[in-house]
Amino acid sequence: MQLKPCTKCGRPSFYYRAYSGEYLCKGCFVTSIYDITLESIRKNEMIKYGEKVVVGVSGGKDSVSLLYILAKFFKGNEIIAVTVDEGIRGYREEGIDIASKVASQLNVKHVIYSYKNLFSYTIDEIQDYKGKYSSCTVCGIFRRRALDIAARELGAQVLATAHNIDDVLQSYFILLTNGDTERLKSFNPAVERSEAFGIRKVHPFFRIYEKELAMFAMLKGFDFQTVTCPYMQQGIRSEIRDFLNKLEERHPGIKYQLLDTFMQFYSKEHKVEGQYCKRCGWPSKNELCQVCKTIDYLNSNRHKADEQRQ
Ligand SMILES: [Zn+2]
Ligand SMILES: [Zn+2]
Repeated sequence: MQLKPCTKCGRPSFYYRAYSGEYLCKGCFVTSIYDITLESIRKNEMIKYGEKVVVGVSGGKDSVSLLYILAKFFKGNEIIAVTVDEGIRGYREEGIDIASKVASQLNVKHVIYSYKNLFSYTIDEIQDYKGKYSSCTVCGIFRRRALDIAARELGAQVLATAHNIDDVLQSYFILLTNGDTERLKSFNPAVERSEAFGIRKVHPFFRIYEKELAMFAMLKGFDFQTVTCPYMQQGIRSEIRDFLNKLEERHPGIKYQLLDTFMQFYSKEHKVEGQYCKRCGWPSKNELCQVCKTIDYLNSNRHKADEQRQ
């Protein structure tokens, strides 16, 4: 298909952005990614001047792009890259290498937080003890806490992660299928409620399509990890991803419409009943937080396995 000239500048275009009806040249496309991201940050007051920002950087295309954009446009803020080491041999090493290389190119401090140190288990090690849980479930619980701990220890006011609109919509559909209407009311995909001791959790890419982030990372020539995690599950999330992509193909812009609709469920006034975990002291819905419960569960399965072996 012959593409029309760039809608913005008239140069030859390389991409038709169906949801907006624009033809874009490479330069204008890259600028548009900056613009959408910066507008999301400004409108939702994600980052204030002078605040310390911890960025979760796995080494994938989204997080590398986020680190790049924050380092480029937020010179008045201290930016720190944090990589979570789940302890997955043959996989995580590459991501750590990429993250540390990109951070040093951008002159950004890079810190690694490992599950082994924080929770005494790696994801490789839980395979025999995870029982009813999937690796992804345990990993998700641990990752959130690891990043919270990092942000708190490093004295950050903001924790930024690279969730894109596709990630956000998948999460919304999972909440719907689980009937989790409480979470629907408290979930703000732009800025998450600060339960971790006042740290603001922000998602500057929440209005950017995954496909366009991949194009952005390629055009910028970033190094990023392309291998997927060996424990990744092709669960309902990937079915929802495919379903949404099919819808978008036939109805360009429907992802934005869905996002805007879902966000209407969010209510600022909706209060989540909260207390502190009696063991670790982190904010929790119950007496014991999810992290402590998970560690208890893994420990008890390990004891059972040890006893059987004797
Ligand atoms: Zn252009
Ligand atoms: Zn706890």
